Amino acid sequence: MIESETLKVGTPLISADAISKAYDKGQLKVPVLRGAGLSAQRGEFISVIGQSGSGKSTLLHVMGLLDSPDAGEVLLDGNRIDNLAPAARDQLRNHVFGFIFQFYHLLPELSLLENVMAPLMIRHSLLGFWKNRREIREAALQITEQVGLSHRLRHRPSELSGGEMQRGAIARALVARPEILLADEPTGNLDAETGAGIMELLQRLNRDQKLTIIMVTHDESIAAQAHRTVRLKEGRIQGVAWEDAA
Ligand code: ADP
Ligand code: MG
Repeated sequence: MIESETLKVGTPLISADAISKAYDKGQLKVPVLRGAGLSAQRGEFISVIGQSGSGKSTLLHVMGLLDSPDAGEVLLDGNRIDNLAPAARDQLRNHVFGFIFQFYHLLPELSLLENVMAPLMIRHSLLGFWKNRREIREAALQITEQVGLSHRLRHRPSELSGGEMQRGAIARALVARPEILLADEPTGNLDAETGAGIMELLQRLNRDQKLTIIMVTHDESIAAQAHRTVRLKEGRIQGVAWEDAA
């Protein structure tokens, strides 16, 4: 049937529908999201722009199951995922999403290679890790090479530059082959040139591996490098600006 075909093609990979969320501030409930909606097709690179405090991180955390909405739904391939039991939710989060953050959040005691291996180590029991250690190491080496850090494997995060730390964080986010990368101000702590290198890497991953990316930023010129930019304002996604792929 043509109709169901159309429906199927149109189903976004991920969507957040009418998301509301408020935080308690003393006796007050402060609304942050008030019916925000956003969806991404597979392979899209979307940027969400908004001022500091507009709820960008909150929206990203809700979409990636790091936080729950007060109202609204998150759908993956058309199936609701925000209301799953905690174990199923954790499992899904670890398989579907990769996250990167402004301040990298690498573990300081581990080498770069160990940081990149960590998500795969966490996924296995100790025995499972031991059995699969070669493949795990191989996967980490491969993705570390893809982000251009093969020469830094044994370095601790404190021995890396900001750009190298973010490349390492990207490798860690992608080592378990997530479908969706959620990026929270990934260039926010980097100088313009280093930030441009990170944006080139994200664009390459999106183009070559069809990685779906949702990136939040307060920087217009960074946002403009996605396929499509939406604006978060007053708790809602406002206008939709279509742009040519950079
Ligand atoms: P952005 O990422 O756009 O800067 P956030 O989503 O981090 O915005 O925060 C939006 C608003 O919600 C801010 O006013 C912030 O102080 C508040 N907020 C965020 N997280 C919490 C929290 N865990 N508890 C209370 N207030 C929070
Ligand atoms: Mg934020």
